Amino acid sequence: MRTPVMAANWKMHKTIPDTIGFIDTFITLVRDIPQDREIVIAPPFTALETVCRAFLGRKNLHVAAQNMHYEEKGAFTGEISPVMLSDLGVSMVILGHSERRHVFGESNELISRKVVSAISHDIKPIFCIGETLEQREAGDTVKVLESQLSEGLSQVSESDMENVIVAYEPVWAIGTGKTATPDQAQDAHDSVRAWISEHFNSGIAEQIRILYGGSVKPENVNELMALPDVDGALVGGAALDPHSFAAIAGCEI
Ligand code: PEP
Repeated sequence: MRTPVMAANWKMHKTIPDTIGFIDTFITLVRDIPQDREIVIAPPFTALETVCRAFLGRKNLHVAAQNMHYEEKGAFTGEISPVMLSDLGVSMVILGHSERRHVFGESNELISRKVVSAISHDIKPIFCIGETLEQREAGDTVKVLESQLSEGLSQVSESDMENVIVAYEPVWAIGTGKTATPDQAQDAHDSVRAWISEHFNSGIAEQIRILYGGSVKPENVNELMALPDVDGALVGGAALDPHSFAAIAGCEI
C-alpha cells in the first residue's frame, strides 16, 4: 500500500570520480530489483549533478539533497536554494538530520521553514526526527518525537502532508553500529503514525512513509522492513559501498 523508500545518505563522502565509480556499479546491481520501491541517493552537493544525470529516465531511482535553505535566493553565503536543487532534477531533500540539529544547531523552527519551502518547490522532504540516548533513558522518547513533529510540521497543510516522508532516526543509533531493536523501532514508528493520525487524519497517517535510520545494514534490513510501520530505511555508512547499498535496496519487502 505504501511504496517503500530505500535511501542513502552519503554525508560528506565521495568526490565526483568516487560517485561515478559507485553509480556505474550500483546501476548494474539494481537493474533487476523489483520496481515496487523507490531508491534514493543523497550525495554531497558537488555530486548531485552527476547522480541526477546517471538516474535520468529511471523511474524508481531518485536523487535527494542533504540540506537546503528555505529562501529561493539572496545573501545567504554558502547556502543552496530549492530552485537550484530543482534546476538539477533533485526531487527530495533530507531535512532536520540529527547532524544538522546537533552539530549545526538547527532548530525545529528553522527546519519547519525548510519543510514548507521544499514542498512548495515540489521537492519531497525526508523529515528526520529522533531522540538522544539521554532522552530515551529518561523515558522521553515519545515526548521528544511529538515535539519535533508538532514544531517541524506546524506549517504543513493536510493536502501537503502526503508529500512528506518522515525518517525516525534514534540519535544513539546513527553511525554507532547500534540498531534499534525491532520492538523499539516499531513502537517509535507506531507513535509517529498515531500522532499524524491525530493531528492530520487517519487517511494521511496510513499513506505516509516512515523510514527507519540508524546503523541499517544488509544483515538487519529484512528484520526492520518486516515491521508493520517501517516503510523504508535511511542509510549512512552502509550506503557508501555499492554492493552493500544494493543489497539493502533490494531487501525482501
Ligand atoms: C544517517 O546518516 O542518517 C544514518 C542513519 O547513518 P548510519 O546508517 O551510518 O547509522
